[in-house]
Amino acid sequence: MTNHTRMFFRLAAPSVLVFVAGMLVAVAAETISSLPLASAGRPAIPGVGDNIALGTGAIALVIHGLQMHRYWRWTQNRGDVCFVCTSVVGRERDGRFGPYRTCLGCGEKHAIGRI
Ligand SMILES: [Zn+2]
Repeated sequence: MTNHTRMFFRLAAPSVLVFVAGMLVAVAAETISSLPLASAGRPAIPGVGDNIALGTGAIALVIHGLQMHRYWRWTQNRGDVCFVCTSVVGRERDGRFGPYRTCLGCGEKHAIGRI
C-alpha cells in the first residue's frame, strides 16, 4: 500500500465511520421501538430507525464531500502537503515541542514551520 493510498483511506475513514455507526444506532433504535409489536401493540416511535438512518447518512455524505474536496485540492497541487511523501497533512495540533500537523500518508508529525 502506497502512502497516497493510505492517505485516501484516511480521508474517507471519518465518513465511513459515521455511516456505519449511524446504521448500527438506527437498527438498535428500530428494534427497541418495535418491541411492543411482540405483544400486539404499536411501535413506540414509528419510523425512528428510518429517520436516524437518513440523518446519519446525510451527515456522512457531507463529511465525505468535505474530505473529497480536500483530496481534489491535493490533486490540483493546492493546500499544505507533507514534505517527505507529498500527501495531505491533517489539522494543526499543539504538541510538546509546539504546533504540528500529522501526515495522512506516512503518519509522520511535522512541525508547522517545516511544512
Ligand atoms: Zn508524509
